[in-house]
Amino acid sequence: MQEYERLREHLARVRCRIERAAERAGRDPQSVQIVAVTKGIDREKVQAAYELGLRLFGENRVQEAQRKFGENPLPPDAELHLIGYLQTNKVRHAVKLFALIHSVDRAALIEELHERAARVGRRLPILIQVNIAGEEQKHGCRPAEAAELLALGLTKPHLDVRGLMTIAPLVAESELVRPVFRALRELRDQLQERFQHPLPELSMGMSNDFDIAVEEGATLVRIGRALFGD
Ligand SMILES: *Cc1c(COP(=O)(O)O)cnc(C)c1O
Repeated sequence: MQEYERLREHLARVRCRIERAAERAGRDPQSVQIVAVTKGIDREKVQAAYELGLRLFGENRVQEAQRKFGENPLPPDAELHLIGYLQTNKVRHAVKLFALIHSVDRAALIEELHERAARVGRRLPILIQVNIAGEEQKHGCRPAEAAELLALGLTKPHLDVRGLMTIAPLVAESELVRPVFRALRELRDQLQERFQHPLPELSMGMSNDFDIAVEEGATLVRIGRALFGD
């Protein structure tokens, strides 16, 4: 019960920060959706978050998502998103579990996702993950590769490329990540123009830096600790 109240407070605070950031940027706060990141969070607490009004949930591993939601799926008006690295050999499960895959970062993965989505007869929404900051240890394609992946994705009738995603570097001062978010938005704008294809979604911003991501155009903020605690 106490935990439920704490979650309610955290959610109110997050929503308030999103609203203020949207206002600063002259954006409609409704254009920003919270993806509640539930890695390491048990199914009951996820349900509590649902009852408090959250509808999008992000997991970063296929196996954990399967364990948590395989037998006990989210209500039909909620969505489960994959936000972590997707191994090609897990795609078969991923196309059945997730409403949106944020972490598509290579051609072989696009091919596999398309084949498996076709096999189950669905059109799967995806985002292309871009490693804007060029950090060695991070997944995501290089910015210069994004066009090639988008071009490939657009040839696949069973995939629906909805936009871009990035993970900003961990920095001491959150303002330092602003150029990363801005670069993702500008890349999106360029790709939209070049391919004449709408890319409405920008998945960027986590607990540390989502205010800045919203100011820079995020439509999906992926928030774990600011909701569920450390
Ligand atoms: C864990 C995770 C998040 C959430 O991070 P918090 O700092 O807990 O908000 C967002 N995106 C990805 C890809 C993650 O793995």
